Amino acid sequence: MARLVMKFGGSSVADIDRIRNVARHVKREVDAGHEVAVVVSAMKGETNKLVDLVRAASVLHDQREYDAVVASGEQVTSGLLAIALQALGIPARSWQGWQIPIKTSDAHGSARILDIDGAPLVKAFAERNEVAVIAGFQGIHAESGRIATLGRGGSDTSAVALAAAIKADRCDIYTDVDGVYTTDPRVVPKARRLDKIAFEEMLEMASLGAKVMQVRSIELGMTHNVRIFVRSSFDAPEDIDPHRPPPGTLICDETEIMEHEVVTGIAFSRDEAQISVRNVEDKPGVAASIFGPLADANINVDMIVQNVSPDGKTTDLTFTVPAADFERAKATVETARETIGFARLDVAEDVCKVSVIGVGMRSHAGVAARGFRALADRGINIRAITTSEIKFSLLIDAAYTELAVRTLHTLYGLDKA
Ligand code: ADP
Ligand code: ASP
Ligand code: MG
Repeated sequence: MARLVMKFGGSSVADIDRIRNVARHVKREVDAGHEVAVVVSAMKGETNKLVDLVRAASVLHDQREYDAVVASGEQVTSGLLAIALQALGIPARSWQGWQIPIKTSDAHGSARILDIDGAPLVKAFAERNEVAVIAGFQGIHAESGRIATLGRGGSDTSAVALAAAIKADRCDIYTDVDGVYTTDPRVVPKARRLDKIAFEEMLEMASLGAKVMQVRSIELGMTHNVRIFVRSSFDAPEDIDPHRPPPGTLICDETEIMEHEVVTGIAFSRDEAQISVRNVEDKPGVAASIFGPLADANINVDMIVQNVSPDGKTTDLTFTVPAADFERAKATVETARETIGFARLDVAEDVCKVSVIGVGMRSHAGVAARGFRALADRGINIRAITTSEIKFSLLIDAAYTELAVRTLHTLYGLDKA
């Protein structure tokens, strides 16, 4: 017997038929003798609808009430799945975040999980053989008693946190693709499914745009060493051979992976905007005068490029911010114009950050240089570059996104045979 967490995302619970299909997947594991906690997302498109309703009510709104509204999507699916399981003769009940409780911080809209008491769920397994169906994405800020949500894609984090809390043997993430691919398989048909990916690589992939897993779920998996297995909910449960490992990707410790390719995957994000501050004085303190106010405004600056000054007097400083913070970032720099001292701001919103990731880069030189050359051969201009030990990122015009990703995918030998 094993203890499992099974998480089903929005497209896996998109309608009643799909919820029945999920119930059959759960039944398969229960019949095999396992203790099961299920985490569900809202039905596909529901969270977007709820977010739109909140914005329609008022663009500037109380984030606590935003959470009260958007958490409701998961409440619906948890109840529906419990009903579908009961209809198959399986004891099951729904749990909202506050009922367990899943305790969170008070950062409404993107709260962090602080603590989960797994004891009531474990007791229900032992005493009643009951499947726990947990509403993902939500918890409670204990001090204020208010519902809090975990940020978009947060059900992944609910699932991994629960797996850690109940000491599950595995956390299966069921989604609409059958694993983690070398890049988004919907954009690059030649993308290849990975059997295994290291936590660190998945963390980079997720934070650089691969939305298959929420970033925080990987951070938690890494800290608590949860075995996360990404697989498809679209296989018919009856077709799965219980004696063979199903297709999917294990996210695990780097040491469990025998052979590392130099490059593991490519991620991209169009949610970026570029700001260039022209003709700032080339003297100490200028960068601080720009990035200090941005930090105070809680704006995450990502890529930073400072040109070498041609005359020793003035230079240009370019950086990127999340697209959602673009207007605020521009206004913040404009407000600090007196202290910074610059000629003008040039901005670009139609940009994309393409990132190449692999722990194998630690021990190989010249990986990025080959990428720069391949893009130049395609006439793709690179606006900014950042590198770290296991990845490099390039900012390019958004119009070239697919061409750039496909070019790099082929260059680094990632195309499937
Ligand atoms: P869910 O609703 O199950 O949480 P998501 O839509 O959040 O599913 O995530 C699954 C999607 O992530 C896939 O449909 C795919 O288009 C996208 N994706 C992006 N990058 C990757 C990747 N490297 N591997 C697999 N899927 C990816
Ligand atoms: N329903 C939430 C969202 O759409 C959480 C999730 O699906 O993981 O972001
Ligand atoms: Mg998701």
